[in-house]
Amino acid sequence: MKVLIVAETDGGRVSEKTLPAIAFAQQKSPETFTILAIGDNLQGVEMLTGYGAQAVLTVNHPALAKPLAERYAPVVAHYAQQLGADAIVATTTTFSRDLLARVAGLLDAPMLSDITALESANGKLVAKRPIYSANLIGTFEVEGSHVVMTVRGPAWGKPEPKGASPVQNAEAPADIPTRSEWLSLQGGGGGRPDLTQARVVVSGGRPLKDPETFEKYIGGLADALGGAVGATRAAVDSGIAPNELQVGQTGKTVAPELYIAVAVSGSVQHLAGMKDSKVIVAINTDPEAPIFQVADYGLVADLYQVVPELTELLKNSGS
Ligand SMILES: Cc1cc2nc3c(=O)[nH]c(=O)nc-3n(C[C@H](O)[C@H](O)[C@H](O)COP(=O)(O)OP(=O)(O)OC[C@H]3O[C@@H](n4cnc5c(N)ncnc54)[C@H](O)[C@@H]3O)c2cc1C
Repeated sequence: MKVLIVAETDGGRVSEKTLPAIAFAQQKSPETFTILAIGDNLQGVEMLTGYGAQAVLTVNHPALAKPLAERYAPVVAHYAQQLGADAIVATTTTFSRDLLARVAGLLDAPMLSDITALESANGKLVAKRPIYSANLIGTFEVEGSHVVMTVRGPAWGKPEPKGASPVQNAEAPADIPTRSEWLSLQGGGGGRPDLTQARVVVSGGRPLKDPETFEKYIGGLADALGGAVGATRAAVDSGIAPNELQVGQTGKTVAPELYIAVAVSGSVQHLAGMKDSKVIVAINTDPEAPIFQVADYGLVADLYQVVPELTELLKNSGS
């Protein structure tokens, strides 16, 4: 299988979010994978060169300075066709969900999302992915000669260091569409680590009342641990936390070393996005809250009492 990995970039810099897709390629196509990185004056390309790819192709063009799926999709489709790629792959993220669905459309190829396993059976590719809030595993057989897919980060992990890959500058196709314009990027972690990459995530639920309270208690604890902030959908829908912080079935999937769930009930939809975390700590006033069923450590307590104490302790211990 010839694999084309689409690197995640913000147009100016390559993101570490690409790494699970490279780990996938190392396992499924160790000799025949190429990485494509798109942007303008791209920085950080060396992050992609130590994993044994045949080549790292970089496409730099002023029209590609921002990660607009409409502009990037024809570039990916062009190089997928030129390289004769059987599989076009990226790590599951907001960027890749947007981009690769368009690529599948342009290539008239099937699209598989959030893949956790891939095998070959009777000459066909058979893929697995979590469905119904990760309560079931769906098995999908791929029709056709090529496929576009996103792979679930925690399932593939980090790639092994391998031989150095050459970086090759590649031309942007002449007909990049420019109907959509980049206006602005709202949100961001406010200097905190990226939610999907962070070693520690502190998430808050609906009882946090308002954005100021949420930032004070959840942001404060996250900062004491050098972690990222997450939220439940109920917190997002109530206007307490911004949309990009939502963890769960319809939000982001995270698998940090430590996940602290503060006043989070533990609905199946929330668990779908965080139950692969290595250590889960739950703080909740209700001892029957479902979050305690997945928690490694549980504290039946009022967040307004224990979170400030914990934050203070962590600050004083210099963690
Ligand atoms: C199609 C669909 C998709 C969904 N996708 C998502 C998703 O991606 N992510 C997601 O999170 N949800 C999602 N939901 C919503 C989900 O079903 C729950 O409604 C939501 O996760 C509940 O959020 P919560 O735990 O903040 O709120 P609540 O259910 O209100 O729970 C609050 C918890 O805080 C505890 N508590 C109250 N006061 C305190 C206190 N002072 N100190 C400590 N603990 C306290 C309570 O005991 C309770 O357990 C989805 C729902 C649907 C139908």
